Amino acid sequence: MKKRILITGAAGFLGSHLSDRFIKEGYHVIGMDNLITGALKNIEHLFPLKEFEFYHHDVSRFVYVPGELDYILHFASPASPIDYLKMPIQTLKVGSLGTHNLLGLAKSKGARMLIASTSEVYGDPDVHPQNEDYWGHVNPVGPRGVYDEAKRFQEAITMAYHTFHNLETRIVRIFNTYGPRMRLYDGRALPAFMGQALRGEDITVFGDGSQTRSFCYVDDLIEGIYRLLLSDYSSPVNVGNPNEITIKQFAEEIIALTGTNQKIVYKPLPTDDPKQRQPDITRAKSILGWEPKVDRAEGLKITYDYFKNLPEFKK
Ligand code: UDP
Repeated sequence: MKKRILITGAAGFLGSHLSDRFIKEGYHVIGMDNLITGALKNIEHLFPLKEFEFYHHDVSRFVYVPGELDYILHFASPASPIDYLKMPIQTLKVGSLGTHNLLGLAKSKGARMLIASTSEVYGDPDVHPQNEDYWGHVNPVGPRGVYDEAKRFQEAITMAYHTFHNLETRIVRIFNTYGPRMRLYDGRALPAFMGQALRGEDITVFGDGSQTRSFCYVDDLIEGIYRLLLSDYSSPVNVGNPNEITIKQFAEEIIALTGTNQKIVYKPLPTDDPKQRQPDITRAKSILGWEPKVDRAEGLKITYDYFKNLPEFKK
């Protein structure tokens, strides 16, 4: 009998890569998505498979799945600053009500549940790099508060189900990740810069570009999540690439890669944009034996090939 896994947000960037991975590992994958930010084209290649089924459903409402379930991966949520500014209430609901519904489902099915948390739980961090014992520096009423606090609540309720109901739970704190199937217009730095280069537009760097991020290639992240799910570790684990750069450097790397010679223009820094971010991955290394393998030059090249071949850029 194949293990059965429910993946919420299955039509999204990470959800679709997770669906691919678990199909490859021999699981029966049940994808669920309300498609407000996900896109069916990310998973259309899975529809012919008998090991894959899909429910068009919003997990903030009661979730029904027939049959047995061994695992639940909760990856449904708007996840870019532009998206959660446009959809603040849905963002809060999917992290809180959605998580509660799925924890209830996990409990009734005896399934193990892994939730997608985020480096945003650390806010604009004053500890650097961020390890899992740092409690964060978050503005609850700022524009990012709807995402950050939903994810913090999500961790809290997941831990409560673990301690109170003995539910098997896993918490991954995901740092900036990139790769094929990111949405071109989601406002994130990488698709913004690559899209601008491909359209011949100026590259928009926010602030003076001295803020830092650490970018992880999607295959590395998926490997970390896979290992965490199958581990017996229930405290949060950072998964990300510690190789940190400034956003200005990042823009310059993308300009060099695309060979388009675009110029950089500077725009105002969004409110509460974190000044620095780098995961401390000591825990992931020791507990999961995991560390990223794909360097930025390689990962950016694969990602650029994906964007270049999108219908809107194909001549
Ligand atoms: N950013 C930028 N230009 C853009 C989009 C983003 O300079 O067109 C900056 C953004 O202000 C942030 C960094 O790039 O400092 C990473 O942004 P992203 O939205 O990718 O992720 P997050 O802020 O959630 O880490």
